[in-house]
Amino acid sequence: MGQLDGKVAIITGAGSGMGRAMAIRFVKEGAKVVAVDYAGDSAAETAKMAGGDCVAVSGDVSKAADLDAAIKVAVDNFGGIDVLCNNAGILSMNDVETQDWDEWDRVQAINCKAVAMFIQKVVPYMEKRGKGAIVNTASVAGLVAEAGGLAYTVSKHGCVGITRHAATTLGSKNIRVNAICPGAIATGMTKGMDMSVFTADKAIARTGQPEEIAAAAVFLASDESSFMTGVPMPVDGGWVAK
Ligand code: NAD
Repeated sequence: MGQLDGKVAIITGAGSGMGRAMAIRFVKEGAKVVAVDYAGDSAAETAKMAGGDCVAVSGDVSKAADLDAAIKVAVDNFGGIDVLCNNAGILSMNDVETQDWDEWDRVQAINCKAVAMFIQKVVPYMEKRGKGAIVNTASVAGLVAEAGGLAYTVSKHGCVGITRHAATTLGSKNIRVNAICPGAIATGMTKGMDMSVFTADKAIARTGQPEEIAAAAVFLASDESSFMTGVPMPVDGGWVAK
């Protein structure tokens, strides 16, 4: 028996890295998955890798119509929505002196606003089920300042703020909202970067693997975390413990 048996999950940013690992693991745990990515071919590849009940959707999370389309796929194919993993994100390393403001808007639109927008859109469907679980991929950059650039840090602090706020307002509807705050993880986002800069002085001095984040997502999406909400949970090799 899987930890997510019978649950329907939408996972964004599912064409690579952590989102792909989540889709593959969720299917293994018995979930039916809608894998969303604006790189549609990568999402299709994920669906193929996951096997089972996994449908790919090509969509940009910053576009409201694309979120509606993903919801329609979940409802038409699988009959409802139990879990939303707001995982899509983009990195930005500019500091306050070098920030480009169009880039700022793009980072906030994808990493922050889209998270809240998708939560708003899935709530009526979770209400129909009588409960729901939302798992946002924030970052240690949502908790400390040294993990990314200015816009990224702001967007991930925003993601943590959305998590806490939505958790308090949706608790009475039996919808839990939590966040994972990954440390340095080996994914498409960090490919080519010298990760030792981030990992050398950490308690667990290595990069994490996407599967280690997927394991945390299974926990937060499952009934095993039934009394947890509003929590930004570090999965970071001890980064923020220092
Ligand atoms: P990744 O680049 O491997 O995967 C991200 C996926 O999101 C890509 O497939 C990309 O096409 C997709 N995506 C980006 N913008 C999108 C949009 N507007 N609409 C739809 N899809 C979009 O990166 P990853 O490391 O797996 O990142 C997953 C999440 O983890 C992100 O939110 C990222 O900020 C966060 N994160 C990453 C790290 C790390 O070290 N890799 C650490 C902390 C947090």
